[in-house]
Amino acid sequence: MPALLLDGKYVAQLTEANLTERVAKLKERTGDRTPVLATILVGDDPASATYVKMKANACKRIGMESLAIELPSTIKTNDLLREIEQLNINPDVHGILLQHPVPSHIDERAAFDMIALDKDVDGVTCLGFGRMSMGEPAYGCATPQGIMRLLEHYKLDLAGLHAVVVGRSPILGKPMAMMMLQANATVTICHSRTRDLESHIRQADLVVGAVGRPEFIRADWIKDDAIVVDAGYHPGGVGDIEIAPLIERVKAYTPVPGGVGPMTINTLIMQTVESGESALA
Ligand code: NAP
Repeated sequence: MPALLLDGKYVAQLTEANLTERVAKLKERTGDRTPVLATILVGDDPASATYVKMKANACKRIGMESLAIELPSTIKTNDLLREIEQLNINPDVHGILLQHPVPSHIDERAAFDMIALDKDVDGVTCLGFGRMSMGEPAYGCATPQGIMRLLEHYKLDLAGLHAVVVGRSPILGKPMAMMMLQANATVTICHSRTRDLESHIRQADLVVGAVGRPEFIRADWIKDDAIVVDAGYHPGGVGDIEIAPLIERVKAYTPVPGGVGPMTINTLIMQTVESGESALA
């Protein structure tokens, strides 16, 4: 039987329809105020500029405002921290997105951690990560939270499954592993120093590819009936996992593109709407 396609584009569109209604209701109640997402772009990396634009467009689609802050690549960490501080105390801003990566001379961790917890709608602070890991309320990191929402939409229960997450970055692999642990999976985290990666993946009921290398995880490492989640996206429309040969024999898989990608932005704007609703209530 062909595998279940985990259609992130579709789930994101469904959610956008709901968010559009919520924003309209909020405007009615508050004399035309909407949630506001502040986006910070440091430098002129074209890919980062495109991502920020896509996020602003998503805000527009649901009737919500965004505030674009563009800073020169030469900015010093302290000056960036001050910009973030201003947004933290600005009552008209409900969510703050600092586009990753920032230029290498900037202390990105310090900048992420400057974001106030209640405006950390991209889920990048250590505090938010710690709270999420402990099962306390916090906005989830957008990409892994989007993956969890996608799995939930298709009613895929993770309890008792062996999930193997390949990658341990702060914005993807690590929070992904903690979210799956919270969902009662047994979790293995693999990284560049893992010995015999293939043997770990062969045991997985659920594999998450978060490596950043095209089709690095081979189809023949993945067992029949596994759930396959691919966060990667590379030129030529391939992800981190060799998916094509799996379509007839796994339980479910995310397409590339149209799986994880749309859920990331969707989660960011959903969490901004939540933040706006609680601030403007
Ligand atoms: P990253 O920061 O470069 O992290 C890559 C991870 O892969 C690291 O933890 C690294 O291990 C691990 N790795 C590298 N080589 C490996 C190997 N040979 N064996 C096992 N693990 C290995 O990347 P990222 O930001 O997490 O992104 C990962 C992928 O997801 C990329 O394809 C990226 O484009 C994609 N992504 C998609 C979205 C979205 O919205 N769709 C968002 C973010 C990222 P070490 O820690 O040991 O170096």
